[in-house]
Amino acid sequence: MSDGPVAISEKSPSEVSGITRIALFGGTFDPIHLGHTGIARAAVGALDLTRVVFLPCRLSPHKQDQPGATGRQRMEMIRLATRDLAWAEVDDHDLVAAEPVYSYRSAEHFRERHPAARLFWLLGADQWQALPRWRHPERLAAVVEFIVITRGGIPLDSRPGWRWHPLEVDLPVSATSIRERIARGGPAEADLDPEVASFITREGLYRR
Ligand code: ATP
Repeated sequence: MSDGPVAISEKSPSEVSGITRIALFGGTFDPIHLGHTGIARAAVGALDLTRVVFLPCRLSPHKQDQPGATGRQRMEMIRLATRDLAWAEVDDHDLVAAEPVYSYRSAEHFRERHPAARLFWLLGADQWQALPRWRHPERLAAVVEFIVITRGGIPLDSRPGWRWHPLEVDLPVSATSIRERIARGGPAEADLDPEVASFITREGLYRR
């Protein structure tokens, strides 16, 4: 083995320091759209993340205004949309659990799996506003640092004592508007990865 200089310049600072920086990205992803992958990419760049774990949550069929995709279909769409993103992973942890999983529990599960990692929770400004109404938000805040993405002018309230990183990204796209467009008979393609759009058409998703 040579004792020569190590070429650390090609590695990111987190790889050099050995600290894994993992962002958990929970959501319905019904369907995953270019807003999701865009904000994940921005977070990777801004916070030097090693990995973003997409965590589709369970949906109660009774609470949906229109029929959506199954957990398996949402997993498949995330796989398709992230196929070329080396830092992206999809995890079915919240889908396969016997009971609905609260975000703080998912975070605690990942903390057990990665005791030495720096853990983040990636979310948009709408969910940052809703966070005090989540189950035990203080337990989630004890485990993760939040990465809060701007969304449509929603104010980013500061939450004293919580570790959080605001990140300005302007991607005006939502899954609701995509589902509504397809339900009206509109094209699947806009705001979606082409493979995801083909999957939606093939499976007949979101049509009335
Ligand atoms: P819906 O319209 O059905 O509520 P959505 O587009 O908000 O869906 P979700 O799967 O619910 O998609 O979102 C997962 C997470 O991504 C949430 O924290 C949400 O705030 C965030 N998010 C989604 N789209 C954007 C966007 N365009 N800008 C910023 N954050 C976003």
